[in-house]
Amino acid sequence: VSSLPTLDASKITITRADPNARTVPTEAEANSGNETICTDHMITVSWTAAKGWANPELKPYGPLSLMPTASVLHYATECFEGLKAFRGYDGKLRLFRPDCNAERMLMSTLRISLPGFDPKELEKLIEILMSVDGPKWLPKERAGSFLYIRPAVIGTQPQLGVQAPKEALLFITASFMPRMDLPEGGMKLHTNPEDMIRAWVGGFGYAKVGANYGPSLLATAEARSRGFGQILWLYGPEGYCTEAGASNFFMLWRTKEGQLQLVTAPLDDKLILDGVTRRSVVQLARERLAGELEVVERKYTIDEVLEADKEGRIVEAFAAGTAFFICPVSEIHHRGIDVKIPMGKEGKIGHYTAKLKGFVGDIMYGNEQHPWGVVI
Ligand code: PMP
Repeated sequence: VSSLPTLDASKITITRADPNARTVPTEAEANSGNETICTDHMITVSWTAAKGWANPELKPYGPLSLMPTASVLHYATECFEGLKAFRGYDGKLRLFRPDCNAERMLMSTLRISLPGFDPKELEKLIEILMSVDGPKWLPKERAGSFLYIRPAVIGTQPQLGVQAPKEALLFITASFMPRMDLPEGGMKLHTNPEDMIRAWVGGFGYAKVGANYGPSLLATAEARSRGFGQILWLYGPEGYCTEAGASNFFMLWRTKEGQLQLVTAPLDDKLILDGVTRRSVVQLARERLAGELEVVERKYTIDEVLEADKEGRIVEAFAAGTAFFICPVSEIHHRGIDVKIPMGKEGKIGHYTAKLKGFVGDIMYGNEQHPWGVVI
């Protein structure tokens, strides 16, 4: 057992930015340029194989310094997380299930041979950053809005050669992110081109590593040029439905027997990310809608979707993730066939999609007091 220092949030050193150096932009201003606007501070923690984790540093937001030979720049030794801090309608600042993100980041980190840590310490660091920058950057007057928190770990060892890095850096920033308002008429999905898949059995689709995202952009750009928002990623000759863009995907349909069923891809073959929003939807639907619908995590194919469409059994569909939150899907295009999905009475969002969005959103914004909403 190694006795090297472990990640320890209590050892943080704090160097404050000049509080008057930057003013907080409006959300619109913050999201209008080509650069993500971050808050005053960031947290960095360096690690070396010889010395373990150094003391965390909270310091003014600014560039990192890396050698051109750094592992991350060549071998994609990088993983990240995405979660939000919410300014509640009760005036309080909350994180939503940050323990899930911290645990997932540990899993992703280990998948790419970067150093482990106690996820509770990462959670504490996120809380420290938000307690310092939250009051200014997410003030009480902005109830109902959020900041996006991006923790990441990278391999920094400046040595070429494919090997586990002996130096790494963990960092956390908080930033503005466009509010993903419901796209007019719902999100339109296009299935992936036959020769491009996102993840495969035995691969790393279940980990939030940067290597999963860059290579997905080609398919997405192609779909966008045809007027679709995201890719519905299918897998295998069977065409299993897995994820929608960087979100999990849910179908609500009636089975042939007439049972209302909410179905989403399973986690067990490690193809998809164990989304925090997905988990929350599954859990709340089971708890609160048990009498109305059943929730099933299983493999299902695009052919089942096409068949359900032909038979008029599709009720709703939505994507679920931190960025888009819960976003109704109005159309799926697959090899020349358009499946139109009902969007509810006002054509905006279906009844159950809205209900589930409400359940989760109310916890995020403090309309409902719930242990998932962690007050800072
Ligand atoms: N799938 C992928 C591939 C993602 O990148 C994300 C976003 N993290 C999700 C699903 C949704 O996960 P979460 O609800 O935790 O944001």
